[in-house]
Amino acid sequence: MIGNVTEHYEVVIIGTGAGGGTIANVLAKAGKRILLLERGDFLPREKENWDPEQVFVNGRYISKDTWYDADGKPFQPQVHYFVGGATKMYGAALYRLRPQDFGEIRHVDGPSPAWPLGYDDFEPWYTKAEWLYQVHGSHGADPTEGPWSRQYPWPAVSHEPRIQEIADDLKGVGYHPFPAPCGILLDEANRPKSACVRCDTCDGFPCLVHAKSDAEVLGVRPVLDLPNVTLLVGAEVQFLRTNPAGSAVSTVLVSRAGQTEEYSGDVVVLCAGAANSARVLLRSANDEHPNGLANGSDQVGRNYMFHNSNAVVAIDREPNNTVFQKTLGLNDFYFAGEGVQGESRSWPFGNIQLVGKSNAAAMRGEEPKLTALAPAFSLDEVASHAVDFWLTTEDIPKPDNRITVGKDGTIGLAYRQSNQREADSLYKELRVIMNHIGIAAHHVLDKNFYMNMGIPIAGVAHQAGTCKFGTDPRTSVLDVTCKAHELDNLYVVDASFFPSIGAVNPALTVMANAIRVGEHLLGRMD
Ligand SMILES: Cc1cc2nc3c(=O)[nH]c(=O)nc-3n(C[C@H](O)[C@H](O)[C@H](O)COP(=O)(O)OP(=O)(O)OC[C@H]3O[C@@H](n4cnc5c(N)ncnc54)[C@H](O)[C@@H]3O)c2cc1C
Repeated sequence: MIGNVTEHYEVVIIGTGAGGGTIANVLAKAGKRILLLERGDFLPREKENWDPEQVFVNGRYISKDTWYDADGKPFQPQVHYFVGGATKMYGAALYRLRPQDFGEIRHVDGPSPAWPLGYDDFEPWYTKAEWLYQVHGSHGADPTEGPWSRQYPWPAVSHEPRIQEIADDLKGVGYHPFPAPCGILLDEANRPKSACVRCDTCDGFPCLVHAKSDAEVLGVRPVLDLPNVTLLVGAEVQFLRTNPAGSAVSTVLVSRAGQTEEYSGDVVVLCAGAANSARVLLRSANDEHPNGLANGSDQVGRNYMFHNSNAVVAIDREPNNTVFQKTLGLNDFYFAGEGVQGESRSWPFGNIQLVGKSNAAAMRGEEPKLTALAPAFSLDEVASHAVDFWLTTEDIPKPDNRITVGKDGTIGLAYRQSNQREADSLYKELRVIMNHIGIAAHHVLDKNFYMNMGIPIAGVAHQAGTCKFGTDPRTSVLDVTCKAHELDNLYVVDASFFPSIGAVNPALTVMANAIRVGEHLLGRMD
Protein backbone atom coordinates (compact mmCIF):
# COMPACT_ATOMS: atom_id res chain seq x y z
CA MET A 1 0.00 0.00 0.00
CA ILE A 2 1.14 3.56 -0.58
CA GLY A 3 1.02 6.20 2.07
CA ASN A 4 -0.50 4.23 4.94
CA VAL A 5 1.82 5.44 7.65
CA THR A 6 2.08 3.76 11.00
CA GLU A 7 4.45 4.96 13.68
CA HIS A 8 6.91 2.16 13.98
CA TYR A 9 8.13 -0.43 11.51
CA GLU A 10 10.29 -3.47 11.75
CA VAL A 11 12.51 -2.05 9.03
CA VAL A 12 12.79 1.45 7.57
CA ILE A 13 14.51 1.42 4.17
CA ILE A 14 15.81 4.72 2.78
CA GLY A 15 16.04 4.72 -1.02
CA THR A 16 14.60 2.25 -3.54
CA GLY A 17 17.44 1.76 -6.05
CA ALA A 18 19.64 -1.26 -6.65
CA GLY A 19 20.34 -1.64 -2.93
CA GLY A 20 17.07 -0.46 -1.37
CA GLY A 21 14.71 -1.95 -3.95
CA THR A 22 16.42 -5.31 -3.69
CA ILE A 23 16.57 -5.57 0.09
CA ALA A 24 12.95 -4.41 0.24
CA ASN A 25 12.01 -7.32 -2.00
CA VAL A 26 13.74 -9.83 0.28
CA LEU A 27 12.34 -8.46 3.54
CA ALA A 28 8.83 -7.86 2.23
CA LYS A 29 8.46 -11.39 0.85
CA ALA A 30 9.49 -12.71 4.26
CA GLY A 31 6.61 -10.77 5.83
CA LYS A 32 8.60 -8.04 7.57
CA ARG A 33 6.70 -4.82 8.14
CA ILE A 34 8.69 -2.33 6.14
CA LEU A 35 8.55 1.36 5.35
CA LEU A 36 10.21 2.48 2.14
CA LEU A 37 11.19 6.14 2.02
CA GLU A 38 12.02 7.42 -1.47
CA ARG A 39 12.83 11.06 -2.20
CA GLY A 40 11.74 10.74 -5.83
CA ASP A 41 8.46 9.64 -7.37
CA PHE A 42 7.63 6.91 -9.87
CA LEU A 43 9.29 7.73 -13.17
CA PRO A 44 6.44 8.68 -15.51
CA ARG A 45 5.77 6.30 -18.40
CA GLU A 46 5.56 8.70 -21.31
CA LYS A 47 6.72 8.84 -24.89
CA GLU A 48 9.69 10.96 -23.82
CA ASN A 49 11.16 7.86 -22.13
CA TRP A 50 12.49 6.82 -25.53
CA ASP A 51 13.21 10.25 -26.96
CA PRO A 52 17.01 10.67 -27.18
CA GLU A 53 16.71 14.43 -27.41
CA GLN A 54 14.66 14.59 -24.22
CA VAL A 55 16.80 12.07 -22.40
CA PHE A 56 20.31 12.99 -23.50
CA VAL A 57 20.14 16.60 -24.65
CA ASN A 58 17.51 18.01 -22.28
CA GLY A 59 18.41 15.72 -19.37
CA ARG A 60 14.72 15.22 -18.64
CA TYR A 61 15.21 12.64 -15.89
CA ILE A 62 18.33 14.03 -14.26
CA SER A 63 17.88 15.58 -10.83
CA LYS A 64 18.07 19.35 -10.48
CA ASP A 65 20.68 18.94 -7.71
CA THR A 66 23.67 21.23 -7.69
CA TRP A 67 26.86 19.77 -6.23
CA TYR A 68 30.22 21.51 -5.88
CA ASP A 69 33.65 20.30 -6.89
CA ALA A 70 36.83 20.78 -4.82
CA ASP A 71 37.23 24.33 -6.15
CA GLY A 72 33.67 25.22 -5.25
CA LYS A 73 32.57 25.10 -8.87
CA PRO A 74 28.91 24.05 -9.19
CA PHE A 75 27.85 21.19 -11.44
CA GLN A 76 24.73 19.18 -12.13
CA PRO A 77 25.44 15.56 -11.19
CA GLN A 78 24.10 12.65 -13.19
CA VAL A 79 21.77 11.41 -10.45
CA HIS A 80 18.24 10.15 -10.85
CA TYR A 81 15.75 10.31 -8.00
CA PHE A 82 12.95 7.86 -8.75
CA VAL A 83 11.50 4.66 -7.38
CA GLY A 84 14.19 2.31 -8.72
CA GLY A 85 16.96 4.91 -8.35
CA ALA A 86 19.75 4.91 -10.92
CA THR A 87 18.56 1.55 -12.27
CA LYS A 88 15.69 3.35 -14.01
CA MET A 89 18.33 4.76 -16.36
CA TYR A 90 21.03 2.14 -16.20
CA GLY A 91 22.21 -0.04 -19.06
CA ALA A 92 21.47 -3.23 -17.07
CA ALA A 93 24.86 -4.74 -17.91
CA LEU A 94 24.84 -7.02 -14.89
CA TYR A 95 28.40 -8.30 -14.40
CA ARG A 96 29.89 -10.16 -11.44
CA LEU A 97 33.22 -8.91 -10.14
CA ARG A 98 36.10 -11.30 -10.95
CA PRO A 99 37.37 -13.43 -8.03
CA GLN A 100 40.67 -11.50 -8.14
CA ASP A 101 38.77 -8.23 -7.58
CA PHE A 102 38.05 -9.41 -4.04
CA GLY A 103 41.80 -9.58 -3.33
CA GLU A 104 44.36 -6.81 -3.52
CA ILE A 105 45.28 -5.80 -7.07
CA ARG A 106 48.32 -3.68 -7.90
CA HIS A 107 47.61 -0.77 -10.20
CA VAL A 108 49.81 1.89 -11.71
CA ASP A 109 48.48 4.43 -9.17
CA GLY A 110 48.49 2.15 -6.14
CA PRO A 111 46.77 -0.90 -4.71
CA SER A 112 43.11 -1.66 -5.03
CA PRO A 113 42.45 -3.07 -1.55
CA ALA A 114 41.09 -6.51 -0.73
CA TRP A 115 37.54 -7.03 0.44
CA PRO A 116 36.88 -8.57 3.85
CA LEU A 117 34.93 -11.31 2.06
CA GLY A 118 35.93 -13.32 -0.98
CA TYR A 119 34.27 -14.20 -4.27
CA ASP A 120 33.19 -17.55 -2.84
CA ASP A 121 31.26 -15.72 -0.11
CA PHE A 122 29.46 -13.65 -2.73
CA GLU A 123 28.84 -16.38 -5.31
CA PRO A 124 25.51 -17.64 -3.87
CA TRP A 125 24.23 -14.07 -3.68
CA TYR A 126 25.33 -13.31 -7.23
CA THR A 127 23.33 -16.32 -8.35
CA LYS A 128 20.25 -15.16 -6.45
CA ALA A 129 20.62 -11.65 -7.87
CA GLU A 130 20.94 -12.98 -11.43
CA TRP A 131 17.70 -14.89 -10.95
CA LEU A 132 15.84 -12.04 -9.26
CA TYR A 133 16.91 -9.64 -12.01
CA GLN A 134 16.29 -12.14 -14.83
CA VAL A 135 19.78 -11.82 -16.31
CA HIS A 136 20.54 -13.18 -19.77
CA GLY A 137 24.02 -14.55 -20.31
CA SER A 138 26.22 -17.58 -20.67
CA HIS A 139 28.35 -18.57 -17.70
CA GLY A 140 31.51 -20.22 -18.91
CA ALA A 141 31.98 -18.06 -22.00
CA ASP A 142 34.21 -15.43 -20.37
CA PRO A 143 37.56 -16.97 -19.40
CA THR A 144 38.09 -14.40 -16.62
CA GLU A 145 34.87 -15.08 -14.71
CA GLY A 146 34.79 -17.00 -11.43
CA PRO A 147 33.05 -20.26 -10.65
CA TRP A 148 29.26 -20.21 -10.76
CA SER A 149 26.80 -22.53 -9.06
CA ARG A 150 23.87 -22.02 -11.43
CA GLN A 151 23.55 -20.99 -15.05
CA TYR A 152 21.81 -17.68 -15.86
CA PRO A 153 18.01 -17.93 -15.92
CA TRP A 154 17.94 -16.87 -19.57
CA PRO A 155 20.21 -17.60 -22.53
CA ALA A 156 22.43 -14.79 -23.75
CA VAL A 157 20.69 -12.16 -25.85
CA SER A 158 21.52 -12.97 -29.47
CA HIS A 159 23.94 -10.74 -31.35
CA GLU A 160 22.49 -8.78 -34.23
CA PRO A 161 24.25 -9.43 -37.57
CA ARG A 162 26.92 -6.70 -37.40
CA ILE A 163 27.76 -7.57 -33.79
CA GLN A 164 27.95 -11.27 -34.65
CA GLU A 165 30.46 -10.38 -37.39
CA ILE A 166 32.51 -8.40 -34.89
CA ALA A 167 32.42 -11.28 -32.40
CA ASP A 168 33.51 -13.74 -35.10
CA ASP A 169 36.28 -11.42 -36.29
CA LEU A 170 37.55 -10.99 -32.73
CA LYS A 171 37.65 -14.75 -32.21
CA GLY A 172 39.39 -15.12 -35.56
CA VAL A 173 42.33 -13.05 -34.34
CA GLY A 174 42.59 -14.76 -30.97
CA TYR A 175 40.48 -12.65 -28.61
CA HIS A 176 37.82 -14.06 -26.29
CA PRO A 177 34.61 -12.08 -26.74
CA PHE A 178 31.66 -13.29 -24.70
CA PRO A 179 27.95 -12.56 -24.53
CA ALA A 180 27.49 -9.65 -22.12
CA PRO A 181 25.15 -10.30 -19.16
CA CYS A 182 22.02 -8.24 -19.81
CA GLY A 183 19.12 -7.55 -17.46
CA ILE A 184 16.18 -7.44 -19.82
CA LEU A 185 12.75 -9.04 -19.79
CA LEU A 186 12.97 -10.80 -23.10
CA ASP A 187 12.01 -14.28 -24.29
CA GLU A 188 13.64 -14.61 -27.68
CA ALA A 189 12.52 -18.20 -28.08
CA ASN A 190 8.87 -17.16 -28.12
CA ARG A 191 8.86 -13.54 -29.18
CA PRO A 192 10.97 -11.65 -31.69
CA LYS A 193 13.44 -9.32 -30.07
CA SER A 194 12.02 -6.38 -31.97
CA ALA A 195 8.73 -6.78 -30.06
CA CYS A 196 10.49 -5.87 -26.86
CA VAL A 197 13.52 -3.83 -27.74
CA ARG A 198 12.23 -0.48 -28.88
CA CYS A 199 14.85 1.90 -27.59
CA ASP A 200 18.60 1.94 -27.99
CA THR A 201 19.37 -1.05 -25.78
CA CYS A 202 18.03 0.40 -22.52
CA ASP A 203 21.31 2.23 -22.02
CA GLY A 204 20.62 5.56 -20.41
CA PHE A 205 16.88 5.42 -21.20
CA PRO A 206 14.01 4.52 -18.90
CA CYS A 207 11.96 1.66 -20.36
CA LEU A 208 8.44 2.72 -21.30
CA VAL A 209 7.23 -0.88 -21.44
CA HIS A 210 8.96 -1.88 -18.20
CA ALA A 211 11.06 -4.48 -20.01
CA LYS A 212 14.31 -3.51 -18.30
CA SER A 213 15.33 -5.44 -15.19
CA ASP A 214 15.41 -2.47 -12.89
CA ALA A 215 14.85 -2.17 -9.16
CA GLU A 216 11.39 -0.68 -9.53
CA VAL A 217 10.10 -3.37 -11.90
CA LEU A 218 11.68 -6.41 -10.23
CA GLY A 219 12.45 -5.16 -6.72
CA VAL A 220 9.74 -2.81 -5.50
CA ARG A 221 6.62 -3.36 -7.64
CA PRO A 222 6.31 -7.09 -6.98
CA VAL A 223 5.95 -6.43 -3.23
CA LEU A 224 4.01 -3.17 -3.27
CA ASP A 225 0.61 -4.75 -2.80
CA LEU A 226 1.65 -6.72 0.25
CA PRO A 227 -0.06 -5.48 3.44
CA ASN A 228 3.29 -5.38 5.25
CA VAL A 229 4.80 -2.85 2.80
CA THR A 230 4.40 0.93 2.88
CA LEU A 231 6.06 3.16 0.31
CA LEU A 232 6.24 6.91 0.69
CA VAL A 233 7.42 8.81 -2.37
CA GLY A 234 8.60 12.41 -2.30
CA ALA A 235 10.01 11.52 1.11
CA GLU A 236 13.55 12.84 1.46
CA VAL A 237 15.39 11.68 4.54
CA GLN A 238 17.24 14.61 6.07
CA PHE A 239 18.69 13.30 9.31
CA LEU A 240 18.93 10.23 11.48
CA ARG A 241 18.63 10.78 15.22
CA THR A 242 20.05 8.40 17.79
CA ASN A 243 19.07 7.37 21.30
CA PRO A 244 20.83 9.33 24.07
CA ALA A 245 23.64 6.78 24.26
CA GLY A 246 24.23 7.14 20.53
CA SER A 247 24.10 3.38 20.12
CA ALA A 248 21.09 3.07 17.82
CA VAL A 249 19.05 5.13 15.37
CA SER A 250 15.86 6.16 17.11
CA THR A 251 14.20 8.42 14.54
CA VAL A 252 14.32 9.03 10.82
CA LEU A 253 13.49 12.65 9.93
CA VAL A 254 11.87 13.09 6.56
CA SER A 255 10.80 16.08 4.44
CA ARG A 256 7.60 15.28 2.61
CA ALA A 257 5.21 17.71 0.96
CA GLY A 258 6.76 20.62 2.82
CA GLN A 259 6.40 18.98 6.23
CA THR A 260 8.89 17.25 8.51
CA GLU A 261 7.80 13.77 9.52
CA GLU A 262 9.38 11.25 11.85
CA TYR A 263 9.49 7.49 11.54
CA SER A 264 11.21 4.75 13.45
CA GLY A 265 12.24 1.17 12.88
CA ASP A 266 13.80 -1.72 14.77
CA VAL A 267 16.30 -1.64 11.96
CA VAL A 268 17.13 1.27 9.63
CA VAL A 269 18.67 0.47 6.24
CA LEU A 270 20.24 3.41 4.44
CA CYS A 271 20.34 2.88 0.64
CA ALA A 272 20.41 6.43 -0.72
CA GLY A 273 23.37 5.85 -3.07
CA ALA A 274 27.04 6.46 -2.29
CA ALA A 275 26.89 10.26 -2.25
CA ASN A 276 23.53 10.69 -0.55
CA SER A 277 24.06 8.01 2.08
CA ALA A 278 27.28 9.77 3.09
CA ARG A 279 25.38 13.06 3.08
CA VAL A 280 22.70 11.74 5.45
CA LEU A 281 25.31 10.32 7.83
CA LEU A 282 27.51 13.43 7.81
CA ARG A 283 24.51 15.71 8.38
CA SER A 284 23.38 13.59 11.31
CA ALA A 285 26.33 14.50 13.56
CA ASN A 286 25.41 14.75 17.24
CA ASP A 287 27.19 14.86 20.59
CA GLU A 288 27.83 11.11 20.52
CA HIS A 289 28.91 11.16 16.87
CA PRO A 290 30.52 14.59 16.41
CA ASN A 291 32.04 13.82 12.97
CA GLY A 292 28.81 12.42 11.59
CA LEU A 293 26.89 9.29 12.36
CA ALA A 294 28.93 6.08 12.32
CA ASN A 295 32.02 8.13 11.51
CA GLY A 296 34.47 7.43 14.32
CA SER A 297 36.80 6.10 11.61
CA ASP A 298 36.56 9.39 9.64
CA GLN A 299 35.89 7.24 6.57
CA VAL A 300 32.29 8.31 5.87
CA GLY A 301 32.27 10.10 2.54
CA ARG A 302 35.87 9.17 1.72
CA ASN A 303 37.22 6.70 -0.86
CA TYR A 304 34.68 7.83 -3.44
CA MET A 305 35.13 5.90 -6.70
CA PHE A 306 33.35 5.98 -10.02
CA HIS A 307 35.57 4.10 -12.50
CA ASN A 308 37.90 5.58 -15.05
CA SER A 309 35.60 5.11 -18.03
CA ASN A 310 35.85 6.06 -21.63
CA ALA A 311 33.04 5.89 -24.17
CA VAL A 312 34.25 5.58 -27.71
CA VAL A 313 32.40 5.80 -31.00
CA ALA A 314 34.12 4.00 -33.87
CA ILE A 315 32.87 5.11 -37.25
CA ASP A 316 32.80 2.01 -39.38
CA ARG A 317 32.99 1.85 -43.17
CA GLU A 318 29.95 -0.42 -43.12
CA PRO A 319 26.60 0.77 -41.76
CA ASN A 320 25.71 -0.64 -38.37
CA ASN A 321 21.95 -1.17 -38.17
CA THR A 322 22.07 -2.80 -34.76
CA VAL A 323 19.33 -1.81 -32.30
CA PHE A 324 20.26 -3.83 -29.20
CA GLN A 325 24.01 -3.37 -29.32
CA LYS A 326 25.29 -4.19 -25.86
CA THR A 327 25.46 -7.95 -26.27
CA LEU A 328 29.24 -8.29 -26.39
CA GLY A 329 32.00 -8.01 -23.79
CA LEU A 330 35.76 -8.51 -23.84
CA ASN A 331 37.95 -9.07 -20.79
CA ASP A 332 41.22 -9.95 -22.53
CA PHE A 333 42.87 -6.92 -20.90
CA TYR A 334 41.32 -7.29 -17.45
CA PHE A 335 44.43 -8.61 -15.73
CA ALA A 336 48.13 -7.84 -15.88
CA GLY A 337 50.29 -10.39 -17.64
CA GLU A 338 50.64 -11.96 -21.03
CA GLY A 339 48.05 -10.86 -23.60
CA VAL A 340 46.46 -12.88 -26.40
CA GLN A 341 48.53 -11.04 -29.00
CA GLY A 342 51.75 -11.84 -27.15
CA GLU A 343 51.94 -8.42 -25.53
CA SER A 344 52.88 -8.06 -21.88
CA ARG A 345 50.95 -5.87 -19.46
CA SER A 346 52.47 -4.67 -16.19
CA TRP A 347 49.07 -3.48 -14.98
CA PRO A 348 45.46 -4.50 -15.45
CA PHE A 349 43.72 -2.35 -18.07
CA GLY A 350 40.04 -3.22 -17.64
CA ASN A 351 36.88 -4.26 -19.42
CA ILE A 352 35.62 -3.47 -22.92
CA GLN A 353 31.94 -3.77 -23.74
CA LEU A 354 29.56 -2.50 -26.35
CA VAL A 355 27.02 0.10 -25.24
CA GLY A 356 23.84 1.68 -26.50
CA LYS A 357 23.88 2.62 -30.13
CA SER A 358 24.70 6.23 -30.93
CA ASN A 359 21.99 8.39 -32.37
CA ALA A 360 22.16 11.79 -33.94
CA ALA A 361 20.13 13.51 -31.23
CA ALA A 362 22.46 12.36 -28.49
CA MET A 363 25.47 13.37 -30.55
CA ARG A 364 24.07 16.81 -31.25
CA GLY A 365 25.18 18.02 -27.84
CA GLU A 366 28.74 17.37 -28.93
CA GLU A 367 28.37 18.91 -32.32
CA PRO A 368 31.47 21.13 -32.22
CA LYS A 369 33.73 18.18 -31.51
CA LEU A 370 32.05 15.95 -34.03
CA THR A 371 32.09 18.46 -36.81
CA ALA A 372 35.74 19.21 -36.12
CA LEU A 373 36.68 15.56 -36.28
CA ALA A 374 34.33 14.25 -38.93
CA PRO A 375 33.45 17.13 -41.19
CA ALA A 376 32.46 14.93 -44.10
CA PHE A 377 29.57 13.34 -42.28
CA SER A 378 26.20 14.58 -41.20
CA LEU A 379 25.38 13.49 -37.68
CA ASP A 380 22.83 11.03 -39.01
CA GLU A 381 25.41 9.41 -41.23
CA VAL A 382 27.92 9.29 -38.40
CA ALA A 383 25.38 7.66 -36.10
CA SER A 384 24.33 5.08 -38.67
CA HIS A 385 27.95 3.94 -39.06
CA ALA A 386 28.78 4.05 -35.35
CA VAL A 387 29.90 1.09 -33.28
CA ASP A 388 29.93 2.17 -29.65
CA PHE A 389 32.30 0.89 -27.00
CA TRP A 390 32.46 1.44 -23.26
CA LEU A 391 35.89 1.05 -21.66
CA THR A 392 36.19 0.63 -17.91
CA THR A 393 39.38 0.85 -15.90
CA GLU A 394 39.42 0.40 -12.15
CA ASP A 395 39.48 3.54 -10.01
CA ILE A 396 41.56 3.45 -6.80
CA PRO A 397 39.85 4.39 -3.52
CA LYS A 398 41.65 7.46 -2.19
CA PRO A 399 40.77 9.11 1.14
CA ASP A 400 40.87 12.57 -0.42
CA ASN A 401 38.34 11.64 -3.08
CA ARG A 402 35.40 12.41 -0.91
CA ILE A 403 31.90 13.67 -0.31
CA THR A 404 31.52 16.56 2.10
CA VAL A 405 28.40 18.44 3.12
CA GLY A 406 28.04 22.20 3.37
CA LYS A 407 26.18 23.90 6.21
CA ASP A 408 23.13 24.20 3.95
CA GLY A 409 23.25 20.46 3.19
CA THR A 410 24.76 20.80 -0.29
CA ILE A 411 27.08 18.07 -1.49
CA GLY A 412 30.74 18.73 -2.19
CA LEU A 413 32.62 16.19 -4.28
CA ALA A 414 36.42 16.36 -4.37
CA TYR A 415 37.70 13.90 -6.94
CA ARG A 416 40.87 13.19 -8.89
CA GLN A 417 40.79 10.33 -11.32
CA SER A 418 43.30 7.51 -10.99
CA ASN A 419 44.91 4.96 -13.31
CA GLN A 420 44.83 7.21 -16.36
CA ARG A 421 47.81 5.37 -17.85
CA GLU A 422 45.85 2.12 -17.67
CA ALA A 423 42.79 3.74 -19.22
CA ASP A 424 44.94 5.15 -22.03
CA SER A 425 46.44 1.70 -22.59
CA LEU A 426 43.00 0.12 -22.79
CA TYR A 427 42.00 2.69 -25.40
CA LYS A 428 45.16 1.91 -27.38
CA GLU A 429 44.27 -1.79 -27.24
CA LEU A 430 40.82 -1.00 -28.56
CA ARG A 431 42.39 0.78 -31.52
CA VAL A 432 44.62 -2.23 -32.17
CA ILE A 433 41.56 -4.49 -32.02
CA MET A 434 39.68 -2.32 -34.45
CA ASN A 435 42.58 -2.39 -36.87
CA HIS A 436 42.72 -6.18 -36.56
CA ILE A 437 39.07 -6.56 -37.43
CA GLY A 438 38.91 -3.75 -39.98
CA ILE A 439 36.47 -1.60 -38.07
CA ALA A 440 38.42 1.63 -37.58
CA ALA A 441 37.81 2.67 -41.12
CA HIS A 442 37.36 6.34 -40.45
CA HIS A 443 37.39 8.02 -37.08
CA VAL A 444 37.27 7.23 -33.43
CA LEU A 445 35.47 9.84 -31.35
CA ASP A 446 35.07 10.32 -27.66
CA LYS A 447 31.50 9.90 -26.61
CA ASN A 448 29.89 11.72 -23.75
CA PHE A 449 26.25 10.87 -23.26
CA TYR A 450 25.75 13.54 -20.67
CA MET A 451 26.87 16.49 -22.66
CA ASN A 452 24.87 19.04 -20.71
CA MET A 453 26.86 18.53 -17.58
CA GLY A 454 30.03 20.20 -18.66
CA ILE A 455 32.64 18.55 -16.49
CA PRO A 456 33.47 14.86 -16.16
CA ILE A 457 33.02 14.85 -12.40
CA ALA A 458 29.26 15.05 -13.09
CA GLY A 459 29.25 11.51 -14.46
CA VAL A 460 28.52 9.94 -11.10
CA ALA A 461 26.66 6.92 -12.49
CA HIS A 462 29.06 4.39 -10.92
CA GLN A 463 29.52 6.19 -7.60
CA ALA A 464 30.69 3.87 -4.82
CA GLY A 465 32.87 3.46 -1.75
CA THR A 466 31.85 6.19 0.71
CA CYS A 467 31.06 3.81 3.62
CA LYS A 468 33.40 0.90 3.04
CA PHE A 469 32.84 -2.34 4.89
CA GLY A 470 35.64 -4.09 6.79
CA THR A 471 36.58 -5.85 9.97
CA ASP A 472 38.37 -2.97 11.71
CA PRO A 473 36.18 -0.14 13.10
CA ARG A 474 39.20 2.16 12.98
CA THR A 475 39.47 1.94 9.21
CA SER A 476 35.99 1.05 7.98
CA VAL A 477 32.44 2.33 8.47
CA LEU A 478 30.53 -0.94 8.24
CA ASP A 479 31.17 -4.45 9.48
CA VAL A 480 30.98 -7.44 7.14
CA THR A 481 27.19 -7.56 7.46
CA CYS A 482 27.06 -3.90 6.39
CA LYS A 483 25.95 -2.82 9.87
CA ALA A 484 27.56 0.40 11.04
CA HIS A 485 30.29 -0.57 13.51
CA GLU A 486 29.09 2.10 15.91
CA LEU A 487 25.32 1.60 15.81
CA ASP A 488 23.30 -1.47 16.69
CA ASN A 489 20.49 -1.05 14.18
CA LEU A 490 21.88 0.93 11.23
CA TYR A 491 22.85 -0.79 7.97
CA VAL A 492 24.10 0.82 4.76
CA VAL A 493 23.17 -1.30 1.75
CA ASP A 494 23.98 0.50 -1.47
CA ALA A 495 27.16 1.03 -3.51
CA SER A 496 28.72 2.81 -0.51
CA PHE A 497 30.02 -0.43 0.97
CA PHE A 498 32.54 -1.21 -1.82
CA PRO A 499 36.17 -1.21 -0.54
CA SER A 500 37.26 -1.28 -4.20
CA ILE A 501 35.25 -1.28 -7.39
CA GLY A 502 36.89 -3.62 -9.92
CA ALA A 503 36.51 -2.80 -13.60
CA VAL A 504 33.03 -4.09 -14.35
CA ASN A 505 29.67 -2.41 -13.84
CA PRO A 506 28.70 -2.31 -10.16
CA ALA A 507 24.93 -2.87 -9.95
CA LEU A 508 24.82 -6.68 -9.76
CA THR A 509 27.25 -6.56 -6.83
CA VAL A 510 25.01 -3.99 -5.08
CA MET A 511 21.99 -6.24 -5.66
CA ALA A 512 23.77 -9.43 -4.58
CA ASN A 513 24.95 -7.71 -1.41
CA ALA A 514 21.45 -6.44 -0.69
CA ILE A 515 20.10 -9.99 -0.86
CA ARG A 516 22.97 -11.14 1.37
CA VAL A 517 22.28 -8.46 4.00
CA GLY A 518 18.51 -8.98 3.67
CA GLU A 519 18.85 -12.65 4.55
CA HIS A 520 21.21 -11.76 7.40
CA LEU A 521 18.54 -9.40 8.75
CA LEU A 522 15.89 -12.10 8.56
CA GLY A 523 18.15 -14.23 10.77
CA ARG A 524 18.74 -11.32 13.14
CA MET A 525 15.03 -10.53 13.46
CA ASP A 526 13.85 -14.12 14.02
C1 LIG B 1 22.95 6.13 -17.01
C2 LIG B 1 23.43 5.03 -16.11
C3 LIG B 1 23.82 3.83 -16.66
C4 LIG B 1 24.26 2.80 -15.83
N1 LIG B 1 24.52 1.58 -16.38
C5 LIG B 1 24.86 0.55 -15.57
C6 LIG B 1 25.00 -0.75 -16.11
O1 LIG B 1 24.80 -0.99 -17.30
N2 LIG B 1 25.37 -1.75 -15.26
C7 LIG B 1 25.59 -1.52 -13.92
O2 LIG B 1 25.95 -2.46 -13.22
N3 LIG B 1 25.44 -0.30 -13.40
C8 LIG B 1 25.06 0.74 -14.17
N4 LIG B 1 24.84 1.96 -13.63
C9 LIG B 1 25.10 2.14 -12.18
C10 LIG B 1 23.99 1.56 -11.31
O3 LIG B 1 22.75 2.05 -11.71
C11 LIG B 1 24.32 1.90 -9.87
O4 LIG B 1 25.58 1.33 -9.55
C12 LIG B 1 23.30 1.38 -8.87
O5 LIG B 1 22.00 1.76 -9.18
C13 LIG B 1 23.69 1.89 -7.48
O6 LIG B 1 22.74 1.44 -6.55
P1 LIG B 1 22.50 2.22 -5.21
O7 LIG B 1 21.48 1.47 -4.44
O8 LIG B 1 23.81 2.52 -4.59
O9 LIG B 1 21.93 3.66 -5.65
P2 LIG B 1 20.65 4.04 -6.51
O10 LIG B 1 20.25 2.93 -7.39
O11 LIG B 1 20.91 5.35 -7.15
O12 LIG B 1 19.51 4.24 -5.41
C14 LIG B 1 19.55 5.30 -4.49
C15 LIG B 1 18.10 5.66 -4.15
O13 LIG B 1 18.06 6.50 -3.01
C16 LIG B 1 17.15 7.58 -3.24
N5 LIG B 1 17.57 8.65 -2.33
C17 LIG B 1 18.69 9.41 -2.41
N6 LIG B 1 18.75 10.24 -1.35
C18 LIG B 1 17.65 10.00 -0.60
C19 LIG B 1 17.17 10.55 0.62
N7 LIG B 1 17.84 11.50 1.30
N8 LIG B 1 15.97 10.11 1.09
C20 LIG B 1 15.27 9.15 0.43
N9 LIG B 1 15.69 8.59 -0.73
C21 LIG B 1 16.89 9.00 -1.22
C22 LIG B 1 17.31 7.85 -4.72
O14 LIG B 1 16.23 8.57 -5.25
C23 LIG B 1 17.41 6.43 -5.27
O15 LIG B 1 16.13 5.87 -5.48
C24 LIG B 1 24.37 3.01 -14.43
C25 LIG B 1 23.97 4.22 -13.87
C26 LIG B 1 23.49 5.23 -14.70
C27 LIG B 1 23.05 6.52 -14.08
